[in-house]
Amino acid sequence: MISLNFVFTLFTVLGLNSDQSLPLSTHGDPDVFFRFKNLLVSIREQTLEPEAAREEFKSIMREVRQAYPAPAELKGSEGIVFPLAGSNYTAVGGGGTGYRDVGFDLFDHTVSGSHPAHDIFILDRNYDCVDDRKNKYIDIVSVGNGIVLATEKNWQDTSSYRGGNYVWVYDFERGGLWYYAHHRKVVVEPGQIVAPGDKLGEVGRTGFNAINKRSDTHLHLMFLALEEDLLPCPVNHFAWLKQAKTVELSSSPQYGPRIKWTANSLKKPSTRLLKSRFTTMTINYKKKKPSYRKV
Ligand SMILES: [Zn+2]
Repeated sequence: MISLNFVFTLFTVLGLNSDQSLPLSTHGDPDVFFRFKNLLVSIREQTLEPEAAREEFKSIMREVRQAYPAPAELKGSEGIVFPLAGSNYTAVGGGGTGYRDVGFDLFDHTVSGSHPAHDIFILDRNYDCVDDRKNKYIDIVSVGNGIVLATEKNWQDTSSYRGGNYVWVYDFERGGLWYYAHHRKVVVEPGQIVAPGDKLGEVGRTGFNAINKRSDTHLHLMFLALEEDLLPCPVNHFAWLKQAKTVELSSSPQYGPRIKWTANSLKKPSTRLLKSRFTTMTINYKKKKPSYRKV
């Protein structure tokens, strides 16, 4: 019996899907997720020169763009969902004035002082991450359609790292990267496809500054557009947030995390089996959430 896992792997590797818009058609380098996380850590630990980090970033984005070409016309606010369930732009810090991109350099960790992002607050007087008005944790949801590139789930309060637990998503329609930070909990995995309103995690206080009492509980949200040379350029997305639709309840991503590749899973089955399997898969694929086995 051929496993679903196997079929999916093959499906993706061989690029045999008939409909290119199907979300699992990542035919780029499967290592991009590992490389992207590795890059983020290297920048943070300053084990990579900014110039080298810049080149690696471009190379990774080339892979991502190959797998998910940016649309001819990039979307702005269209179709955007507000990143906190049940909330809206009035929760954005400073009425949207908290954005400062001067001096920002993603690749140089020694540069500080910029804040090319918006902080979106919940009401949490006792800093337990529970929203005082709603009496529950607040879901962070994906603002657009995209693929999760990297996550951090195990931030420790002894760590000096600023972002805490985070999620990076490549946005298919805007052709850039969303960075969501300070989660108490992250529920997605690298390689997972997310739609607007899908839950990424919950608002928290992780991160070197965010955990301090002087900081109110919030989501830090940044959007980096990609320039023609694939270098990142922060965008003040407050206007988008103002037009974003609010979802009261988050949804779950339709597809499970991307499967890992093993030599074994790449073994080729007979064409006959392949054909019949693909017919079945094409139908199931759209209707059902596939079950995954971690390998
Ligand atoms: Zn912030």
